[in-house]
Amino acid sequence: MSHSFLAAEPATGRPQPDAVVRLEDVGKVFANGTVALSGLSLAIAPGEFLSLLGPSGCGKSTALRLIAGLSRPTSGSIAWPAARLDGRGLPRGEIGFVFQEPTLMPWQTVFGNVWLPLRLAGISSRQARPAVMEALAAVGLEPFARAYPRELSGGMKMRVAIARALVMRPRLLLMDEPFAALDEIARQQLNEDVLQLWRRTGLTVVFVTHSVFESAFLASRIVVMTPRPGRVFSDFAVAAPADRDARYRTSDAYHAVTAKVSRALQEAMQAGAAA
Ligand code: ADP
Repeated sequence: MSHSFLAAEPATGRPQPDAVVRLEDVGKVFANGTVALSGLSLAIAPGEFLSLLGPSGCGKSTALRLIAGLSRPTSGSIAWPAARLDGRGLPRGEIGFVFQEPTLMPWQTVFGNVWLPLRLAGISSRQARPAVMEALAAVGLEPFARAYPRELSGGMKMRVAIARALVMRPRLLLMDEPFAALDEIARQQLNEDVLQLWRRTGLTVVFVTHSVFESAFLASRIVVMTPRPGRVFSDFAVAAPADRDARYRTSDAYHAVTAKVSRALQEAMQAGAAA
């Protein structure tokens, strides 16, 4: 390995007793016969910022929904070793999910949108206020608590969606291409903010993207998936400087990571085409 900041890691086989989530040989076949995932094995360690990278349609969102317990695998197993589970064996409260669209209620204020998960749990607006304001502060939107979604930019709406995911204080934050619809400037700013949030909170993050640049900027570990049916093609740690800011984007270290990730993605595509 010529670059000291890139540490290769074996994809599987390492004992990880304290994984937050462990997928073993997971397959997912939809009712219409589409095989979205096949033989997907992945253990997610506490505190990681893991980026799931792969071509459109390779099963990234499907994998994320399985990790969230929103859908069940058709083969293999998925476990949340350290989580408190509900009656159905799912770790509901422990996981926050940010979707591709912010999916805000237009008739509710920013406060009302972030309060929603707590409201559904029977917590009054007054009781919820400290947690809601803390979540809004985490994404820099405290002054906008009384604003309505229509008054916000696309990036701000996405911040509200992130605050709503944080308000239940999850241990695991799942993000499904959250910034794909934003312009480049807003996307870069949100990438930096999400990294800061991760550093401050120690959250475990799984971030789905099809952008090499986004995954290389954000992740402490990048998992490249094969084309459908998705499984792990390559898996490596990214030991970038702790402070990844605008300067990091133009650094040799960042360029080396993006080159390595691009190559892995090309190889994954070729392996998929040959299969
Ligand atoms: P990605 O997130 O990598 O773009 P997805 O996980 O959304 O991929 O989809 C993987 C494959 O499964 C795609 O071919 C998609 O069309 C298919 N798929 C996703 N959800 C369903 C569903 N509910 N029913 C049938 N096919 C689905």
